[in-house]
Amino acid sequence: MILVLNSGSSSIKYRLVDPADPGAGGKGVVERIGEADGPADHTEALRAVFEDLSGGTPDGVGHRVVHGGDRFVRPTLLDDDTVAAIRDLTPLAPLHNPGAVAGIEAARATFGDVPHVAVFDTAFHSDLPPVAATYAIDREVAARHGIRRYGFHGISVEYVAGRTAALLDRPLADLNLVVLHLGNGASVTAVHGGRSVETSMGFTPLEGLVMGTRCGDLDPALPGFLERAGLSPSEVDTLLQHRSGLAGLCGDNDMRTVERRRAEGDEAATLAFDVYCHRIRRYVGAYHATLGRLDAVVFTAGIGENSSAVRTASLAGLEGWGIAVDPDRNDGRGARVISRDDARVAVCVVPTDEEHAIAEAVTGFLA
Ligand code: ADP
Repeated sequence: MILVLNSGSSSIKYRLVDPADPGAGGKGVVERIGEADGPADHTEALRAVFEDLSGGTPDGVGHRVVHGGDRFVRPTLLDDDTVAAIRDLTPLAPLHNPGAVAGIEAARATFGDVPHVAVFDTAFHSDLPPVAATYAIDREVAARHGIRRYGFHGISVEYVAGRTAALLDRPLADLNLVVLHLGNGASVTAVHGGRSVETSMGFTPLEGLVMGTRCGDLDPALPGFLERAGLSPSEVDTLLQHRSGLAGLCGDNDMRTVERRRAEGDEAATLAFDVYCHRIRRYVGAYHATLGRLDAVVFTAGIGENSSAVRTASLAGLEGWGIAVDPDRNDGRGARVISRDDARVAVCVVPTDEEHAIAEAVTGFLA
């Protein structure tokens, strides 16, 4: 059994994965770490996880880490040195890496005798072509601060790209894909022969698509403008990270609620939905151009897997590009092709499973 941990600053999500039996194994979440009514720290939180395992010790522990910087480009066995290096990346991911490090340290203290492996959300994008990774700013400033496009959601996108090749019964090496990971966070990645060649999240996970509470792309002059208008840097940060996106546009960040309000004719929710889908369509067109030839558009994560309305609206009017969704297939369930038979580009729904992908990486180390 592999224990997979996704540790945040105040919560630990965990899942036990039996690589030989994907259906087996428990999962859960420990929340409110450090709050009055929650576990005091990550070590105490893991004790609750340990009890849930009924005292069994896992064969290995996989840790999801959001930011691997330039150093971590593949799954990495954790020791004191690598944990310190992940902690040193905190300036690049202040919201994410500290929680991961706290979870790693607690887990190494709790399950000391088994291998611990970190799997990074940035790793899949680490060899982005320079034309895609480079921001057009002063190169010395960029070099001093490590400013480049890192990209995120890589664990999910790599897994989904592999499952898509299996679904289409074609070698991944031959495929050009646009993978849309639409969850609370959202990103789109162009995948050429199994490699990330362009991705919408950048230096941080704020860039790109419209998200639940994040703005995605905007004019880079806006933060400075808002600060001169009297907002503090941290207020601007909070605005763009937590009070924008669907939530900023209509007050709800859950796509199910946005869709229900839209069906009732609510104007703000309708505009939020339309802006969300318009942004996706723009990226599909841009990444089609990046790839030259496009074999499949792939939808994954909470919204991508479940919202037939978002899939329909995002790809509407692209028949001339060989992209056409079949309504009946769109309304189906599970991993499937949802495009019309006469369409040149396949449109697919492929459920993601980041924990399974992390467990596979750990299994690789055990073998
Ligand atoms: P996370 O990024 O936290 O892993 P998920 O991948 O679980 O998020 O996606 C969460 C999003 O999926 C939410 O916005 C939720 O509204 C949306 N979602 C889940 N089920 C549906 C559904 N049936 N229709 C539309 N949206 C859905």
